[in-house]
Amino acid sequence: MKFCKKCLLPETYPKMKLNSAGYCNVCIEYERKFGDFDFEKSESELRKILEKETAKNNKLIVTCSGGIDSSYVLYLCKTKYKLNIIGANFDHGFQSETAKQNLSNLSKILNIGITTVKPDYRILYRLYRDFLLRTGDFCTPCCQGCCRSGFVVGDNNNIQTIIHGGVSGSRVEFNVLGMYKHHYERFMKVVGNDYSFEELQDIVTPTDEIKRFNLISLPQYLNWDVRKIMRILSKEVNWKAMSNGRIWHVDCMIADAADHFLQRKFGFSRHWMSISANLRAGFISIEEARTMLNDQEEGVREEPKEAIDALLKKTGLERKEINELPFFNSEPAIKFLP
Ligand SMILES: [Zn+2]
Repeated sequence: MKFCKKCLLPETYPKMKLNSAGYCNVCIEYERKFGDFDFEKSESELRKILEKETAKNNKLIVTCSGGIDSSYVLYLCKTKYKLNIIGANFDHGFQSETAKQNLSNLSKILNIGITTVKPDYRILYRLYRDFLLRTGDFCTPCCQGCCRSGFVVGDNNNIQTIIHGGVSGSRVEFNVLGMYKHHYERFMKVVGNDYSFEELQDIVTPTDEIKRFNLISLPQYLNWDVRKIMRILSKEVNWKAMSNGRIWHVDCMIADAADHFLQRKFGFSRHWMSISANLRAGFISIEEARTMLNDQEEGVREEPKEAIDALLKKTGLERKEINELPFFNSEPAIKFLP
């Protein structure tokens, strides 16, 4: 198995092509798009956008989960950009204690009101179950719900501007080449037709409805160095990673199960995608990336028992069904990383 010389993505990554020099098409496109990225210019552009939105709305919405990206967005909006904001949070049924504590600290220390949207859990757990059985992964209904919370809280407060920490389109985007996107179209294609509009109303937002809102992704404008961000957040708002050291997806107590299934399906998990993205953006060195990959990809090879048990319990899935999930077609790429 070959790996990109620059970002270490495995050649089994869907739609990835390595050129004769050993670099992948994601890295080449990255250079073209971000090679001469001007952060000062980009941040001043962000400030102008925020000014314009503030002139239209008395408050702005920030979607937040207690995870690292959205926590940093809350922190920046309040302390650096001095915005009047309301936090919108989605309780996806697997919120970790760490995430709840992070949100509570952010709310108290920064004096931000956070509204939590709670959907119909019978529907949501059924969605996770259906999605997992049909695709071999289950994060899309939750990602839809997290976005949905912004629109619901926005509508309730008559605010059409939503600021978020989604890294899609930024220098650290990890779902590259159209892989593993959690958009409305994928959701509808896989499970949408089995549910009524009413059943889905607190969970998904049709693409047409999204057009009524202005969405602002802070990672697209700023230097999104996750280790720097973690240092700032832990110092300023007592932000915590998971007790096992996991920095990404601390908002979810079954994230290890999600990554385990992804590794079984594709041969690599989101850890790999995030590490490659940070390597490509120059935030970590290739030696550090190798250490992180060996540590984190190995970490999800074995079944994360606690996370899988929690998933089975809430969704009513049986162990046998998990063992028969589709797409067991890749060997873990980490076995071949030289
Ligand atoms: Zn690459």
